[in-house]
Order: sequence, then C-alpha cells, then structure tokens
Amino acid sequence: MSSSVEERRVQLLVLGGGPGGYTAAFRAADLGLSVVLVERESTLGGVCLNVGCIPSKALLHVAQVVNEAKAIAKHGVEFGAPRFDLPKIAAFKDGVVGKLTQGLAALAKKRNVEIVRGTAKFMTPESVVVENAGASVTFSFDDCIVATGSRPVEIPNFPTDDLRLMDSTDALRLASVPDRLLVLGGGVIGLEMATVYHALGSRVTVVELLPGLVPGCDRDLVRPLDRILRTRYENIFLETRVTKIEPEAAGLRVFFEGAKAPSSDLFDCVLVAVGRKPNSDQLGLEQAGLATDERGFLRVDAKQRTNVPNLYAIGDIVGQPMLAHKATHQGKTAAEVIAGLPAAFDAKAIPSVAYTDPEIAWMGLTEEAAQAQGISVETANFPWAASGRALGIGRNEGTTKLIIDPETRRLLGAGMVGPNAGELIAEAVLALEMGADVEDIALTIHPHPTLSETFAFGAEMLEGSITDLYLGKKR
Ligand code: FAD
Ligand code: NAD
Repeated sequence: MSSSVEERRVQLLVLGGGPGGYTAAFRAADLGLSVVLVERESTLGGVCLNVGCIPSKALLHVAQVVNEAKAIAKHGVEFGAPRFDLPKIAAFKDGVVGKLTQGLAALAKKRNVEIVRGTAKFMTPESVVVENAGASVTFSFDDCIVATGSRPVEIPNFPTDDLRLMDSTDALRLASVPDRLLVLGGGVIGLEMATVYHALGSRVTVVELLPGLVPGCDRDLVRPLDRILRTRYENIFLETRVTKIEPEAAGLRVFFEGAKAPSSDLFDCVLVAVGRKPNSDQLGLEQAGLATDERGFLRVDAKQRTNVPNLYAIGDIVGQPMLAHKATHQGKTAAEVIAGLPAAFDAKAIPSVAYTDPEIAWMGLTEEAAQAQGISVETANFPWAASGRALGIGRNEGTTKLIIDPETRRLLGAGMVGPNAGELIAEAVLALEMGADVEDIALTIHPHPTLSETFAFGAEMLEGSITDLYLGKKR
C-alpha cells in the first residue's frame, strides 16, 4: 500500500466535528479566521447529531405519541393497539439526522471552513497528523481547539462480541425490539432509551448502582418519574450491581448483587448506559504536553485554554456536564478568545433535561447541593395538580420548584417534572442569568392556561401572594 505525507499550515485547526467543534469552527470563520475542521466520521455533528440528542429525541417523539394514545383511552378515546414498522421508524429518525448533517456540511461550505476527513493525533504542541486510509497530512497551526468528545464507558469482563449487549449507539439503530430488556444505569441515557423501548413493547428492568434514579437532581423532582416508571416497568433495582453477564442461547444471563434483585435473571438484550469517557487516550496528548485529570478529561480555564499555549479544549472532552449546549457555548468562547475578543465561559447555569415521560429539567443550584454546601435557601413546589393546563392534558403528577436566596429573594435554582419540562426550564435559566428575584417572576404575566404559569405560581408561593392555592399565610 502506498502512503503519502502532505504538510500544511493553517491558522486554526479544530479537532472533532461535534456540536463543540463545528460551532467553534463556524464562529471562528465568521470572525475572519481561516479554519480547518478535522473529523474522522463521514458526517459532521458528532455524537449529538448522529448517535445522541437528535436520533434519541426523534424516537422519544414516537414513544410520546404511543403513550399519549394509550393514556387518552381512559378519557373516552380509544385507538387500536399500535403496529410498529421498525425500518420506517428508523428511517424517520435517520431522515432527521440526515437533514441536519447535510445542513451542517452546507453551512461549513458557505463559510469556507475546510473539512478534512481523518483521525487526528498530536505530533508536537504545534502540529497534528491526520490519517485517513493510509494517507497522512501534517498540519501546523497558530491555534488548535480539541473537541474530540466522549464515548460510552464499557464494563470490563462483560461479553464484547454479543449483539444482545448494546450501548446507546446500538440501541438507537432500532434493529429489533427485545421482549425483555435490562437497562444498566438509571441515568439520562438509560432512562431515555428505556422510554423508547417500553413504548415499542419491551418489558423493561432498570438497574442502578446508587439509591435513586437520575443522580444529581433533587429527589422531589425525580419522585413523580420514579412512581410512574414503577407502574410501567417490570422492575427498578436500586443500589444494585451487575456482577456478571453470561451469554446463553435463550438470552443473556445477568447476575445481580443487591437487596431487592434476584441472584440472576435472563434478558433478551442488555443496554449498558453507565456514563461516558473522554476521547483523549488516542490523541497523542503526551506529545502535545496536554494535562488531563485522573479520568482523562482535559483541564481548561474559563477561556477554554489548556495548560499549553495556543491549545484550547471544549465540550465533553473537558468533563461534566457532558451536554451539547455546554459544548456549543464553550466552542463560541474558544473561537472568540482566539480571535482576540474578551470572551469567557461564565454561564451561571447549564440546564439539564431528562427527556423521559414525564420529563425532568433542572438548572442552577439544587436543594441537595445547597444542603451539602451549607447554603441556606428557601424553596417552593407548585403542584401541577392545581394547574388547569396540566389537568387539561391529563397529567397532574408534575411539580415546579424554585430555589431562592432567602436574603436577596433572587432565584438560585429551579426544576420541573412533567410533560414539556425541558421547554419550560429555559425561562428559569433566563431568570437566573438576569438576576431575577421572586417578585420579578411573580409579576411577569404568563399566558393562561399554560404550564409556564407554574413557574410564576411557584414565585407567588414564595411571595405569599398566590391565589391559585391556599397556603394559610399572607404577606
Ligand atoms: P462529540 O459530539 O462527541 O463530537 C466529537 C467528534 O470528534 C466526533 O464526531 C468524533 O468522531 C470526533 N473525533 C474524536 N476523536 C477524533 C480524532 N482523533 N480525530 C478526528 N475526529 C475525532 N446532550 C444534550 O445536551 N441533550 C441531549 O438530549 C443529549 N442526548 C444524548 C443522547 C445520547 C444517546 C448520547 C450518547 C448523548 C446525548 N447528549 C445529549 C450528549 C451530547 O451528545 C454530547 O454532550 C455532545 O455531543 C458533546 O459534543 P462534543 O462536540 O464535545 O463531542
Ligand atoms: P449518567 O452518568 O447520566 O448515568 C449513568 C448512571 O449509571 C448513573 O446513575 C450511575 O450511578 C449508574 N451506574 C454507573 N455504573 C453502574 C453500574 N456498574 N451498575 C449500575 N449502574 C451504574 O450517564 P449516561 O446516562 O450514560 O449519560 C452519559 C452522558 O451523556 C451524561 O453526562 C449526560 O449528561 C449525557 N446525556 C444527556 C442527555 C440529555 O441531556 N437529555 C441524554 C443522554 C445523555
């Protein structure tokens, strides 16, 4: 096989074409820099567009329609049992992904951002080699942004070549719907994919190491989801460890260690969703002199600068929270810093959303974190059972929570559980960023009847002025 080596010099080299990388590249190009973006896959968009946020939400839409059609039966509208055409559902999801990735390619072209296909590796702090099918190009650069993202954590000693053992990428392919599915990990990926497969007919068991689902979120926001999932799923085993998985002809035999779990059980498929790790191990970080923490995440400051001058890092590769909207904002910050603008990543809150049914969304300080840090807070939970709109959509399990500073009355954190919580949380983020206090929120006229009102009602509770509930005290 013949090999060729080409050498090039560029102003800005961006490694990785996910939401962090393409945003950084596009913003830098808009600011007048000449940019080359290196991506090893055939499309831009990274995990988010290709095997993450976007395909999962397309499938979750299908699940939502199925669940709503089922739920309306008790209010007098009955549809027949759904029939699923898996290839067609997969084609819908792939079509959404395809439109977006093609859109990105067009946006790159319009900006003269050159896309180089291949796998990048640092040679020195000032140069990177990109390899693709035996051909190599060496790039030297003025600045480089590392945005190579993350991949699923694998559990050692589990079977490696058994198609019945899936990660999120495998699960999103929707090759088949297993009769019994075990979801290992009660975090966001596990619960979102469980929602999809349950709606498509799988009997689902979730196993989680910690004492509760969706760690990191306040328990009062998780409780309504937990309660509903326990009516839908075969089992939810908390504080339980999977010690071994043995392939058998009839399924995967899974061995558990936990008070409420059996010692073993047989499942048709197992989805492993126990977190993600950084794509930093194959990058030649030593040649670049780049420092990581003990888990392999790159260390950066608020300007997204690493320990090496002219090397920046953004997105999942710099650690939690591993979210697309954090990656894009960090991408813009890095591009602006490189272009000489006075930028820094100083977001007051990065919202988190679990697109489960019901959805959970939260942002800013949680009550748990406040307690752990000894921060005194005041909270209010407005029950959606008192929201006309929530009742009108047949859902009353939700709640909207506000967490404020008792002295300044300013919003410190907020969360919602219920349908559309992921959309509703944006208002709370804006309120926090703008330094709103409860009076600002309570006096903001929200349209009626909407779920968004519940945020203002929560503020009215803290004001002692709510008329949609009776609290027995007045201010
Ligand atoms: P990535 O998206 O991981 O992109 C990195 C890119 O770098 C990839 O395209 C990769 O191929 C490329 N690359 C890696 N190494 C090299 C190399 N050596 N050379 C060249 N290219 C390389 N986040 C949300 O905010 N909302 C959601 O709803 C959501 N849902 C998710 C659902 C699932 C199933 C998963 C798995 C993730 C989800 N996420 C969600 C997380 C989100 O996808 C990530 O936070 C986001 O993609 C991170 O962006 P990034 O640019 O840092 O990295
Ligand atoms: P996660 O960290 O959110 O959840 C993993 C869960 O697995 C945790 O609850 C953890 O306690 C549990 N766990 C770990 N080891 C275990 C074991 N051996 N047995 C049983 N349980 C175990 O990770 P994830 O769900 O894989 O998601 C990865 C990343 O992707 C997250 O950082 C998340 O932010 C991002 N993501 C976001 C969204 C969203 O924003 N809607 C959706 C999907 C993924």
